[in-house]
Amino acid sequence: MKIKTSTFVVSNSDVAKCPVSHLPEYAFIGRSNVGKSSLINMLTGRKNLAKVSGKPGKTRLINHFLINDNWHLVDLPGYGYAKVSKQEKKTFQKYITAYFEKRQQLVNTFILVDCRHEPQPIDLEFLEWMGTNAIPFSIVFTKADKLKPEALDRNIAAYKAKLMETWVELPPYFITSSSNKTGRDEILNYIQSINDT
Ligand code: GDP
Repeated sequence: MKIKTSTFVVSNSDVAKCPVSHLPEYAFIGRSNVGKSSLINMLTGRKNLAKVSGKPGKTRLINHFLINDNWHLVDLPGYGYAKVSKQEKKTFQKYITAYFEKRQQLVNTFILVDCRHEPQPIDLEFLEWMGTNAIPFSIVFTKADKLKPEALDRNIAAYKAKLMETWVELPPYFITSSSNKTGRDEILNYIQSINDT
């Protein structure tokens, strides 16, 4: 898929205020610092698209971008901030949960994990929650350029093995690097193939 246009639409914390639209929607989520903004910028070919909505105070919001006038890319807040109060975590969980439960046009969620790290409890819990609620997702292993090919293979095999302890089937997964555009075509073509069906 060629990205011809990508524009910021709206940021908010209320699923009821997300754009009224029937366009298919693809969300991106992961722990803070996983490389989500970089990935969104890499996919859209824009230097600062994700940062537009990433201004102070906007990082915990649901951010909608319109791509090629025919689908929405949604930048969801990063989870797992160490410095967030319990109350803030609760509020965050509430509106993210509402987003996943109510957003009918959500087609797929890309859950980002850093390829250098072992499966983290917070990510595994989130995957489990998505599975229990039958919300379609894929996994994106980010920052692949930071590992040698053998180490990358090893880490991904370890991640898969961990998932297979609880999952019968593995979700689709992608390996990406925002530094050298690895995985860009694969993710965009995946979105295109779903949009075409
Ligand atoms: P976010 O908090 O998930 O939006 O993460 P950012 O996109 O802001 O990235 C966090 C840090 O990781 C920044 O210093 C990025 O430059 C770096 N980073 C993100 N993606 C990559 C990548 O693919 N390769 C490398 N080497 N660094 C990356």
